[in-house]
Amino acid sequence: MFYEVRVYDGNGKLKKTISEEALHERHWRPESVVQDGKVIPHLVAENGSHKDRKRVYLHCKQCKKEFMKLSFNQIYCSQDCNEKAKYERLAKTRSSVSKEAKCVECGNVFISKRSNQKRCSDTCRRRGNRRSCKISAARYNEKRKIEQAIRNAKSEANNEQSNG
Ligand SMILES: [Zn+2]
Ligand SMILES: [Zn+2]
Repeated sequence: MFYEVRVYDGNGKLKKTISEEALHERHWRPESVVQDGKVIPHLVAENGSHKDRKRVYLHCKQCKKEFMKLSFNQIYCSQDCNEKAKYERLAKTRSSVSKEAKCVECGNVFISKRSNQKRCSDTCRRRGNRRSCKISAARYNEKRKIEQAIRNAKSEANNEQSNG
């Protein structure tokens, strides 16, 4: 909040009045400051307010330019750099997943896009699926045979009991 300020001289005579706008301008006027041989445009509090004392400068993690930190967890100079860094991070994690792998079906070396990709192509994937279907069908038949055998044995036992 700013109010008009009257400045009096030693005799109690009004020397000048400073308007609210003028005060505001004085308080937060844009000013370029040279730091480490570089010119940094920023707002500076002329009267050394709390904001002035807390001024922190960082190098943007993306473009390496120096900027004035405005929020406590800010590491990029702008929203732009923030977005760019985000995309680069994403691209990095994607590329780290893409690696050479050997197809378990045909033995060809291919670029695996997912960490759990084991087959080079749809053809090999289908081949693998069909085989696993066959395997599970065989297992199912075996299981049924065993179950049938157990059932037979049980009913035989029952028959023997009822007969005896
Ligand atoms: Zn930047
Ligand atoms: Zn293959």
